[in-house]
Parts: sequence; structure tokens; C-alpha cells
Amino acid sequence: MKPKEVIEFAKKNDVKFVDLKFIDFPGVWQHTTLPAHRLDESLFEDGIQFDGSSVRGWQPINASDMTMIPDPETAKLDPFFAHPTLSLVCSVYDPITKQPYSRDPRHIAKKAEAYLRQTGIADTSYMGPEAEFFIFDDVRFDHSKPNEGYYYLDSAEGAWNSGREEYPNLGYKTRHKEGYFPVPPTDTLANLRMEMMLALEASGVEVEVGHHEVATGGQCEIGIKFHRMLPCGDQLMWFKYVVKNIARKHGKTVTFMPKPLFGDNGSGMHVHQSLWKEGKPLFAGDGYAGLSQMALHYIGGIIKHAKSLAAFTNPTTNSYRRLVPGFEAPVNLAYSSRNRSASVRIPITGPSPKTRRVEIRFPDPSCNPYLAFSAMLLAGLDGIQNKIDPGDPLDKDIYALSPEELKNVPHMPGSLEEALDHLERDHEFLLRGDVFTKDAIHEWLDYKRTKELNPIRMRPTPHEFFLY
Ligand code: GLN
Ligand code: MG
Ligand code: MG
Ligand code: MG
Repeated sequence: MKPKEVIEFAKKNDVKFVDLKFIDFPGVWQHTTLPAHRLDESLFEDGIQFDGSSVRGWQPINASDMTMIPDPETAKLDPFFAHPTLSLVCSVYDPITKQPYSRDPRHIAKKAEAYLRQTGIADTSYMGPEAEFFIFDDVRFDHSKPNEGYYYLDSAEGAWNSGREEYPNLGYKTRHKEGYFPVPPTDTLANLRMEMMLALEASGVEVEVGHHEVATGGQCEIGIKFHRMLPCGDQLMWFKYVVKNIARKHGKTVTFMPKPLFGDNGSGMHVHQSLWKEGKPLFAGDGYAGLSQMALHYIGGIIKHAKSLAAFTNPTTNSYRRLVPGFEAPVNLAYSSRNRSASVRIPITGPSPKTRRVEIRFPDPSCNPYLAFSAMLLAGLDGIQNKIDPGDPLDKDIYALSPEELKNVPHMPGSLEEALDHLERDHEFLLRGDVFTKDAIHEWLDYKRTKELNPIRMRPTPHEFFLY
């Protein structure tokens, strides 16, 4: 919609409020609300001011004023307020220079799309994220289960498990790692997911599929249709907002934390990707698994830079509890068709070249989507520009390979600390087209190290009490 159409739309729906949202640096939506009479065309030019020093990783207190300007293309009715409300996603600007703010993730995604066009390689990058999440009961501590949280060694599996299996099975309980995907009554979350799917479609987000996932504790997935990079980031944020708010209405809580439960599958956010030019798909060809040489080079770039990309695609300390063997999460940096143990999978698709794409499996939903998409696109483009060979595909169960066979297969970083060190060493490719600035990279490293790594490093954890 154009500003005029948004104003018409608001009138037609008798909107009383305009809710302005923007994404902060780590990747969480923030908002502020205006009465509807403030909605006019000038709002889309001048925006409104806010305090950028109270937003994580942004401005110092002595330069705190910032401007948010709504993007009319993001207009939707917001169903989660008691009064009719129009929702608009904003980009952030410097009020003095009027320039887009270099640490605004949406702005970084816009620059990535502009850089793609500037290279002449393609004009469109499509991203299709599959964000998995857990739905838990919204209780803090259940005193009727004092043993919850105890750990014991499960000798059958030889793995440490939480004590959940110690309780009697009261019927239709999902079996360990078998949540994918028995029908109700075992699947108790189907109606809740349907409500989420309806709300998404009602707000213009096309849903592909919704299902229970492998993990026992209420792990779900709702796939949304692929989109151009910037609107895909907007959609993913809307998606998280919708599923969390609908869960809350039913006394449930949703987490996109990559590994909330020890010993069970974590939540990934696989991202399907393809490049297009003048309406033609560029990833279809007669190479391995029906891919073009360009697609194979794109994979080469992703694999080459994956350790550094991880700082954006797997940006939390918890991300690395997911990237371990045996839980369908990739550890090794290899590509393969159909293989879910590889970090790059080429899905089996129909004969149409339009469906040909690569699925990057290491990202998780704790990422800031705009930053993760932009960084992956730049790595892929580096692969295309420098004809980076991805090596041979690895069509084997990678989890079952011996250390000898894995000797030459690179792997994902083992911790956030490692990923940040890789990003510090390897980020030239991110600076192309001024997409990520040196300032943005520096602030990301600093924020993650001082606000996340260190505080976690200094805190004793429950398992340390068990061990020591
Ligand atoms: N949950 C798995 C992951 O962490 C993916 C499972 C699947 O979609 N096949 O990536
Ligand atoms: Mg899926
Ligand atoms: Mg899945
Ligand atoms: Mg997938």
C-alpha cells in the first residue's frame, strides 16, 4: 500500500490507534502507539522521535534522539489489542543527518537487496524460513512435580536426560523424540496451531504447512511462504508476534530458544534460498541435484563463511547447545540432496526449475532475520563472484561417519565465543556494498561479548551443582 491507501484502509476499518514497531539490534520488536488522528501523509515522511539510548546496542545517551519512519508496505490490522489498531513496521533514521541508521537491521537488509541488484548477478533474493518453536504451559514452577529438573543417566540411550520419563504415562503422551507426527489425541496442539495459522492468513501471511515437530515437549513448526528478503524479515517478525500472542491467550507460552530441552531436538530455522533475475530462476541447471553452477558457487560461499555467518545465524549462547550430533541439527559443513544431517540440503522438488533452491539448515530462530538473511546472501554472492567450489557432496549419514572420514569436513563453531572470533577475522565479504558497516560489525561483537557471553560465563548453572 501507498501512504494514501494506508490512510483509507485505516478509515475503512475505523482504526483508533496506530502501533509503530521496529526491530532492535538483537532482533526483538519494540513498539509505541499513536492515536489515529496522528496518521497522515507526513507521518510517512517525518516519522516520530524516540530515545535510541534505551534500545539495546544502539545510541549513547548524549546522542539518544532517533527517528522511526513507518513503511506503508507493512500496514496490517493488529488483532492483539482491545481497540481497532493499525500496525506499521518502521525503519530508523538519524534525526540530524536524516540518513538511515547504520545499525538498523531493516536498513542493512535494504542495502543487501540493493547490492544484489548492483552486482548484476540477480535482482531478487528469495528467502523461505522454517522457524520451529516450543509451546509450553505458562507456569513458572509446578510444585506437584518436585523432581522436574533432576537428571539421570538413561542407560538405553547412553545420554543424559531430564527426569520427565520418570512420571507415569497418563495416556497419549508423545514418546521421546517421536513428536513427528502422530495424530490427535497424541498431538494436543493441533487446534492451537490451526488458530495460529488462521490468524497468520487473515493478516496476509501465506502459510504452507503446520505440524508437530520431533521433540516431545510441544515442539511445532508452521512454514510460511518464501518472500523477497526485506518483506520476509517483516513477515518472520509478524509470525513470532502472532504465535506468541495466540499461545498467551490460551495460557501457553512460546519460545524460539534453539535448545530449551536437554536430550531432545532443538529448534532450527532452516532457510530456503534462491536467486532470480527478470523473473527467471537462476539456481536450476544440470549440475548436482539439478542445480546450476551459480547455485553450487552460492553453496561454496555459504560453506566457506559459515563459521563467521554463525555469529548472525546462530547468535546466542544457547544456539550451540543445538548444534550437536544426533538431533537433526547440522554440525558438519557439507551439502547433499535429501540429507538432513548436512548443513546444506538440496530439497527434492518437482520438475519445475522455479522450485529449485538450497536449504541452509544451520540457522536458528534466535537470530535477527534481517541480519541473518543479509549475511547469508553476501556469503553466497562471494561464492558466485569468486567461483568458490563447494567440494563434493556428502551423501551419507554424517552423524555415523568416523573421525577419520570426517577429517576433511569442516564443522560449525562449538560456541558463540568461537563464532564471534571467526566473525572478527572473516567479515570483508559483509562490508561489500556498505551492507554491514565496520561500526555495525564492531557493535555486534561488543554487544554479544559484553552483554551475553560474559554474564553467562560468570554464572553457575544447575548442572555444575550436579557435577561438583
Ligand atoms: N529440529 C531440527 C533442527 O534443529 C530440524 C528437524 C526437521 O525439520 N527435520 O534443525
Ligand atoms: Mg519443515
Ligand atoms: Mg522442521
Ligand atoms: Mg527444513
